[in-house]
Amino acid sequence: MSLTATLKSEKFLLATRQLLIDNQWVSPASGKTFEVLNPASEEVVAKVSQAGAEDVDLAVQAARRAFADGSDWRCMSASDRGKLMWKLADLIEQNLEEFAELESLDNGKPISVARVADVPLAVDLFRYMAGWATKIEGNTIPISVPGAEYFSYTLREPVGVVAQIIPWNFPLLMAAWKLGPALATGCTVILKPAEQTPLSALRLGELILEAGFPKGVVNILTGFGETGAALAAHSDVDKVAFTGSTEVGRLIVKAAGESNLKKVTLELGGKSPNIVFADADLKAAAAGAANAIFFNHGQCCCAGSRLYIHKSVFDQVLEGVVERAGRIRMGPGLDPKTQMGPLVSREQLDRVCGFLDSGKSEGARAAAGGARHGDKGYFVQPTVLVDTKPTMKVIQEEIFGPVVAAMPFDDPEDIARVANDHVYGLAAAVWTRDVSKAHKMARALRAGNVWVNCYNIFDAALPFGGYKQSGWGREMGHQALELYTETKAVTLQL
Ligand code: NAP
Ligand code: MG
Repeated sequence: MSLTATLKSEKFLLATRQLLIDNQWVSPASGKTFEVLNPASEEVVAKVSQAGAEDVDLAVQAARRAFADGSDWRCMSASDRGKLMWKLADLIEQNLEEFAELESLDNGKPISVARVADVPLAVDLFRYMAGWATKIEGNTIPISVPGAEYFSYTLREPVGVVAQIIPWNFPLLMAAWKLGPALATGCTVILKPAEQTPLSALRLGELILEAGFPKGVVNILTGFGETGAALAAHSDVDKVAFTGSTEVGRLIVKAAGESNLKKVTLELGGKSPNIVFADADLKAAAAGAANAIFFNHGQCCCAGSRLYIHKSVFDQVLEGVVERAGRIRMGPGLDPKTQMGPLVSREQLDRVCGFLDSGKSEGARAAAGGARHGDKGYFVQPTVLVDTKPTMKVIQEEIFGPVVAAMPFDDPEDIARVANDHVYGLAAAVWTRDVSKAHKMARALRAGNVWVNCYNIFDAALPFGGYKQSGWGREMGHQALELYTETKAVTLQL
């Protein structure tokens, strides 16, 4: 009996999945499909459609019709828009177990994690954003133009047709982060999930239809190799929102510049510093440092991959992290006992192993892990590197795997400068019992998110995003909504 025969998602996995365009499931113009693998077993679990430029065009047209004046979506009250989003959240919640399975099969992550993190956070995001639908407000503005009396106010209007290209590390949650603010503000969407993990977005598409969203409001295109670029270059797309590598982020900016100067928001890489001062609760810091890098197998843009520990407590904290790395139980995500699954793909396995080799050849040493785990599936051992130098590739570049570099520091006054000395600025953390130091560090660190005595704390109400080359704009919170609206200033002469 196949593995999938025992799953709630069996029925969903058996059929070749189509594209969602204008509320219809359709085959791609080319008829092409591609296979989706379980990264724990390297076996095919599903077949999905490969969208090309022609399908992109149809989806953009559908989204444009849905955004036209007088459309069902544009005529819908903000309250009804919010209710639809809330209904979608309810439907996801009712199907929590199936979503957790799909995430685990597709991405490799432990089902136990998907059940308590990915799926409930997605539900919560839709509910949070549903509440905002009725609160997208402008202002009245006193103006001082002489000679007449005026009344000026602003309107905040949806930016329009939005392409959203999401990554594979939290497939459903990233769909929620992107769709939530777009739908709350009244935009229409073409969602492009990552080729490695298209399944939960497609299941979400079924629930979007079940919830009753009007035609063309959400279109979902799976594909690889050409879909993302066709969306970024399309001159009838008003905005593209992307999460992924800095390299592709640059290509999107270029495509936007060369087409219609569409708006762009980007959530890109990170190499986040995690700083442990000598006065910290060292046990909590060691546990937090392990969670900062090993959560989701290090496949987090905000992973705490540069661990700076004061030299007076270096050995003690290092030992705590190494001990935790050694205890992590690896296995297939669907095994309820698994604490760390495989990386998402062969490409990521090769990439991360390439970094491990590069670290070793440049003189770094693995105090824990340091190699692939087993020979089936894309598993990498939780790894702690020591004896690194700031110029090494493993410090300069994002690894996006369960690999942390632990480095001792000497001068507490200088550590913010050291931590900031990087092209990225997504997240940072500080471990200390000194309140004043905590707040001073929070100000000094050039990062979009700073955690003190904790790590990886997310909430739909908290903005998330990067300084420097970690991105443009913010996800979540009311800040995200601003990036899906245009501001219109209206002035009447009285
Ligand atoms: P990637 O190359 O950054 O992104 C792949 C996605 O971008 C696909 O959906 C792809 O669509 C689209 N794309 C590719 N070229 C495009 C273009 N010119 N214009 C618009 N879209 C385009 O991700 P990856 O290769 O899976 O991962 C590589 C590295 O990215 C990872 O090692 C990690 O460092 C980083 N990453 C970061 C995050 C994050 O959360 N910030 C998430 C995932 C990965 P098509 O297939 O249709 O081309
Ligand atoms: Mg790529």
